[in-house]
Amino acid sequence: MIQEARQYRTGLAVIGSGLAGFAASVFALQRGIRTAQVGNTGAIAYTTGYLDLLGWHGDRLLDNPWSGLATLRQEEPDHPLSRISDQDIRDAFFGFTQALSEMGVDYTPPGDRNLLGLTPAGTRKPTLCMPRTMVAGIAAAAAGDRTLILDIAGLDGFSARELVANAGASWPNLRSRRIIFPGVDAGVRVFPEVMARALEAPAHRQQLAGIIRSVAGDAKYIGLPAILGIHRPDRVHRDLERLTGFTLFEIPTMPPAVPGIRLREMFEQAFPARGLTLVPQQKVKSLELGKTTARLHLNDSYGKVEIEAETVILATGRFLSGGLAADRHRVRETLLGIPVSQPESRDHWYREDYFDLRGHPINRCGIRVDEAFRPISESGRPISERLFAAGILLGGQDWIRQRCGAGVAIASAYRAVSFAAGCL
Ligand SMILES: Cc1cc2nc3c(=O)[nH]c(=O)nc-3n(C[C@H](O)[C@H](O)[C@H](O)COP(=O)(O)OP(=O)(O)OC[C@H]3O[C@@H](n4cnc5c(N)ncnc54)[C@H](O)[C@@H]3O)c2cc1C
Repeated sequence: MIQEARQYRTGLAVIGSGLAGFAASVFALQRGIRTAQVGNTGAIAYTTGYLDLLGWHGDRLLDNPWSGLATLRQEEPDHPLSRISDQDIRDAFFGFTQALSEMGVDYTPPGDRNLLGLTPAGTRKPTLCMPRTMVAGIAAAAAGDRTLILDIAGLDGFSARELVANAGASWPNLRSRRIIFPGVDAGVRVFPEVMARALEAPAHRQQLAGIIRSVAGDAKYIGLPAILGIHRPDRVHRDLERLTGFTLFEIPTMPPAVPGIRLREMFEQAFPARGLTLVPQQKVKSLELGKTTARLHLNDSYGKVEIEAETVILATGRFLSGGLAADRHRVRETLLGIPVSQPESRDHWYREDYFDLRGHPINRCGIRVDEAFRPISESGRPISERLFAAGILLGGQDWIRQRCGAGVAIASAYRAVSFAAGCL
């Protein structure tokens, strides 16, 4: 029996559910565009929760990302961020962080300077916006105030002693302590996501608060790995501060990490409630581009699905998420075979020195877009008037080295949505 595909029609289809795909859906909803989004789990569960705009240029960390952008525009005019105005980047970050805060995970708005976020190793990382649950760590570190960092027996990849050893030189009143998570036997491995879900329950919060009070001593601040709840982190955070009487802050853990899982689960709940058609945990198998519409083909648990869309945003990420793939000779874009700008041959993918400050050419490969963020062919013409692209699939940037992952994702999604809106 041939099974009929379930059909949907929409104004905009977003392919990908990383930061760029989610940001595109947020901006489309803010404009009242009928939207469908398809994507499976990607790199979002790996993120720290920090939203970086631009944290590194040349050979130094940036305190001011906006003056960094001015330099970037002169030195790297093809970088995706060089093609977006400061005002649009600010509006994009404002719109996105405001939506996150309204949907359930409170974020700081973008400012004029980078914030210095703590890493699990005790180093600092320049970033533009962060979850509210992490903010108090900045003031504690800046003032060198009396702070106790807690780690948890059985939790891999987060050591309070290591953090204190690395940060202690500039933060003299920093101490560390290991605790046992309530309800867990000593010697058992524990995972951030499981502890975060446990802390959604008031009884677990009360037990943890008792443990924190018993070890806090004269500390003013308590730093913990990011485990303060999945769905209502701000409520869990506030409640634990009330129960302990201390100012608490979270520190990102190694991936997969709770801050990214929070965002993914929040979008999966909030988008359908706002009228977006979300097909989570699925990949688009093929995409047909017509003159007036595009057609996405995929399967979900109930069978075949076809989505007819007037416009499409491709936000499928790089190698980790499957938007790009490489064989022994070339890098290719996986869904449509869009040309990928890349070094001439594999011999030029990497530099000799792994730590070369210029980075490796392979990390800058990606698809090219025109001024309207439409992917272009070898001849430089748009592949379709209705196809747009966003996120780290775009070439000409090295988001890991430049600390600009969220910046590229959010700002390019903002531009792609505004150009797609012009087609509708
Ligand atoms: C370990 C780690 C730590 C990070 N830390 C930070 C940080 O501190 N600050 C920061 O700003 N950024 C950070 N990032 C980067 C940030 O996560 C990325 O910049 C951002 O996720 C890029 O978003 P994207 O949506 O372009 O791509 P991705 O997040 O890679 O998402 C692409 C999506 O497309 C989906 N997809 C692929 N093919 C298809 C298909 N055919 N059909 C449907 N869906 C498809 C994938 O499943 C995935 O959901 C970190 C990333 C990693 C890996």
